[in-house]
Amino acid sequence: MDARANVSAARGIFGQLCPRCRAGRIFRSSIFRGFPKMHECCPVCGLKFEREEGYFLGAMYISYGLALIAITVVAGLLWAFTRWSIEKTVVRSVLLFVPLAPTLTLFSRVLWIYLDRSIDPE
Ligand SMILES: [Zn+2]
Repeated sequence: MDARANVSAARGIFGQLCPRCRAGRIFRSSIFRGFPKMHECCPVCGLKFEREEGYFLGAMYISYGLALIAITVVAGLLWAFTRWSIEKTVVRSVLLFVPLAPTLTLFSRVLWIYLDRSIDPE
């Protein structure tokens, strides 16, 4: 596929593009606007995104790790400005994080597909 050479992995991940052709979109709409449905296969090259039942379990680990990092960063910033107690800071940063969770979940699916395809590209 010639199109792939023009798009880096980072741009493909950020643009939620198919890891094989980097032209077809993984989701039907932007993940920054709510919770979109995934395409079952790449609309351009036909790559099946969900390889098997429970394939996205791996994405949950990525999601968990990213969530921990995000909450830690938010808590650190919150504490730096407010000097609240640890409990108050952690509770508030988790609450601030909740609206970001769907985006993070979908983004970790994209990361998971890229990771899995780079290790085992069929
Ligand atoms: Zn494709």
